[in-house]
Amino acid sequence: MSEIPDEGQEFKLQANSELRFEVEAKAMVEIEMIEGQAEMFGTELAKNRKYSFVSGSKIAIFTWHGCVLQLRGKTEVAYMSKETPMTVYVNTHAALEQMREKAELENTRGPRILVVGPVDVGKSTLCRILVNYAVRLGRSPVLADIDVGQGNMGLPGTIGALVVERTADIEEGFQQTAPLVFHYGHKSANDNLQLYNLLVSRLAEIINVRCEQSKKVNCSGVIINTAGWIRGAGYEALKQAAGAFEVDVICVLDQERLYNQLKSDLPDFVKIVLLPKSGGVVERSQATRAESRDNRIREYFYGLKNNFFPHSFDVKFNDVKLFKVGAPSLPESCLPLGMKVIDNQTKLVPLLPSNNLLHHILSVSAATTVDQDIVETNVLGFIVVTGVDVEKGLFTVLSPSPRPLPRNILLVMDIQFMDIK
Ligand code: ATP
Repeated sequence: MSEIPDEGQEFKLQANSELRFEVEAKAMVEIEMIEGQAEMFGTELAKNRKYSFVSGSKIAIFTWHGCVLQLRGKTEVAYMSKETPMTVYVNTHAALEQMREKAELENTRGPRILVVGPVDVGKSTLCRILVNYAVRLGRSPVLADIDVGQGNMGLPGTIGALVVERTADIEEGFQQTAPLVFHYGHKSANDNLQLYNLLVSRLAEIINVRCEQSKKVNCSGVIINTAGWIRGAGYEALKQAAGAFEVDVICVLDQERLYNQLKSDLPDFVKIVLLPKSGGVVERSQATRAESRDNRIREYFYGLKNNFFPHSFDVKFNDVKLFKVGAPSLPESCLPLGMKVIDNQTKLVPLLPSNNLLHHILSVSAATTVDQDIVETNVLGFIVVTGVDVEKGLFTVLSPSPRPLPRNILLVMDIQFMDIK
């Protein structure tokens, strides 16, 4: 990472405008608010505090009343814009807040919101803004993420949720002390739709239980981020998620076609709102997406600013039980009587350790015995296989915590990670 230069650029922002910037590759950017008030994706900036952003970050600092910002470091672009959808977003938040107030009075469930839209329209960002605004009013909403491509909650290849009690940290996002995460194993919902739908339903079920335990969480509601796959089976998966979470609001970002389709397909009690996307959201190529997946995994092990120190140790084949979820589909005629092709996709398949494990990510299941329903049990964390020695009967792993592994049931992902710094 390059050094941040001392001299900076000053930006005077008028009310209702934002500063957008993208951090250059291998660079760092520092931002400081010198005057006024500002927020980043719904989290307020403290005055005279320096916040730093790593290479590739795409940031918008918005102000409702005007502010002065000092920016230091190399950016791809840095410009101010008055065209933002923030007023529409805050109005959406206000409508959700009214639903929460009603829920609180009547002791019922708060709003459940599904945020949908094509790729790169700012779905994750809108979720972050809505959750932050709710938290700033003292709410504790559940943030769920069912986009397996990016893995905001766990790693790519997972879905998950967490109860949010503090606004997202400007630099590091939401504090993820105890997220509930499920292993899916692939980077697209399309790779095993049957399993994907099963896990989405399971996640919704557990969130319901969590809501029943706390009136505050229950009336704060649930905000669900989805993937940008909105055609064909992807659209069906969105509808299935809407049903599983029993959502009452769907925010459709930037696509009238999807908005109209949902309006005609979903029952009337589901409010569907069309929201504009921000002109600041940057489109990402397949390569950039793959890179950001990789960065997410690296960040899990090494920390956002390389400030974590993962452990490397050997694990004996005999000490663990390896599985993957989903067997290759066989024609109906080859299956045991009464079994459908579809059942295979959610089946737990034991794996023999081999060189094929190299670089694969393994989820450490919370299950303690193989008698449990491992597919539908959450995971505790992840390790990556950095070496396999078949002769010695062991493999080497990179792990966020020291040995021993907390559990011995491991689920193999399709997704790989090369531990090269
Ligand atoms: P995906 O298709 O991967 O699900 P998405 O629709 O969820 O993407 P986001 O991840 O919210 O989109 O946004 C894409 C990128 O744009 C992010 O890096 C985010 O930080 C950035 N971004 C969002 N809003 C703005 C803005 N107003 N100005 C500049 N950058 C922004």
